[in-house]
Amino acid sequence: MTEAIYKELGISPQVYQFGKKIEETLTERFVQIDKNAEYNQLKVIKAMQRHRVSEACFAATSGYGYNDLGRDTLEEVYASAFHTESALVRPQLTCGTHALAVALAANLRPGDELFSPVGKPYDTLEEVIGIRPSKGSLAEYGITYRQVDLLEDGGFDYENIRSAINEKTKLVTIQRSKGYQTRPTLSVERIGELIRFVKGIKPDVICMVDNCYGEFVETTEPTDVGADLCVGSLIKNPGGGLAPIGGYIVGKQELIENCAYRLTSPGLGKEVGATLGILNSFYQGFFLAPTVTASALKGAVFAANVYEALGFSVVPNARESRHDIIQAVTFGKPEGVIAFCKGIQAAAPVDSHVTPEPWAMPGYDSDVIMAAGAFVSGSSIELSADGPIKPPYAVYFQGGLTWPHAKFGILMSLQKLIDAGVVSL
Ligand SMILES: *Cc1c(COP(=O)(O)O)cnc(C)c1O
Repeated sequence: MTEAIYKELGISPQVYQFGKKIEETLTERFVQIDKNAEYNQLKVIKAMQRHRVSEACFAATSGYGYNDLGRDTLEEVYASAFHTESALVRPQLTCGTHALAVALAANLRPGDELFSPVGKPYDTLEEVIGIRPSKGSLAEYGITYRQVDLLEDGGFDYENIRSAINEKTKLVTIQRSKGYQTRPTLSVERIGELIRFVKGIKPDVICMVDNCYGEFVETTEPTDVGADLCVGSLIKNPGGGLAPIGGYIVGKQELIENCAYRLTSPGLGKEVGATLGILNSFYQGFFLAPTVTASALKGAVFAANVYEALGFSVVPNARESRHDIIQAVTFGKPEGVIAFCKGIQAAAPVDSHVTPEPWAMPGYDSDVIMAAGAFVSGSSIELSADGPIKPPYAVYFQGGLTWPHAKFGILMSLQKLIDAGVVSL
């Protein structure tokens, strides 16, 4: 019956059988992913119970939003789940980049230096920092930036990190996910080692982690291993696919207060910020986030195993442990990237009838193809893929609100690669 409905949806019996064989080898991995999700689910429920989440928390506020019970309680829930003193979780944080920009600008002052010991940060942060000149960047406010790249083997360059830290170093930024680079994603354990090393040299330095795509992948978060600030987007993992907008910053009380004064206004801080009736989706999304993240992880592991079995290079590889939800597959030719993305699009619940094409996106130095049929525009916890049309012709794939959808998407990508003559079974 299942094979028949796959066939009606355009998956050939050969592709279905191939996927079935791969899936059968992943039982152990999936059990482990489910165990993590179980722990994280309980962590979230515990936080919600502790702070007495109740129906009154879902009521809409407007105007200034003074005494917004739902907003204040949600921030306590996030702080508890991340084991921090405080949290800022707001629809007014428009995306991950904005949350990161607020956390940086709020805690740096002219003359301070920002330091990345893990190489170049995510593309959009180049303009926030001023690595690429930009209006309103930290550089324009006299905040300098320094970075030390990871070693060839992905390790930390401890020697150069030690010499880069100086009297001006105020904040150290650590990106957990590889983003769209080829370096390995950092495990929470490795982030902890790095923070211990940095604090050993300069105890009062602020350690901030860009946690995008990493939430709930492991049973601990960077705040469990010494991060003073941890930042992410609600249209990725912690929004559980339901939050239609938003970002979060969790961490030390004083640093979060600085963030609130920067986000709203000096003097106002956390006291203002109406939530307009959307908090229900923030709560319910956070509640679902552990199992949604598990579904996305299963999809990533399945994709790695499918495409590695077919001889393509995949990062992370088929057996590696996971620290974020991103999967890269290198096809070595444009047709591969295009067919893969067409498959992901064709499997979507929304906009499956449109065909993605490569185009010259602003900010990129080559054409880029993107596949996304999402309920929330641009949401990358929903099944999505993108790839720049340039060597090595790799596609980056992430998300999947449910495992069956992630599986269908990957089978459809394989079907399209076969139809395009890039792959044969
Ligand atoms: C997505 C992402 C960001 C930026 O988030 P947006 O919501 O797209 O602005 C920053 N850092 C990393 C590692 C990301 O994956």
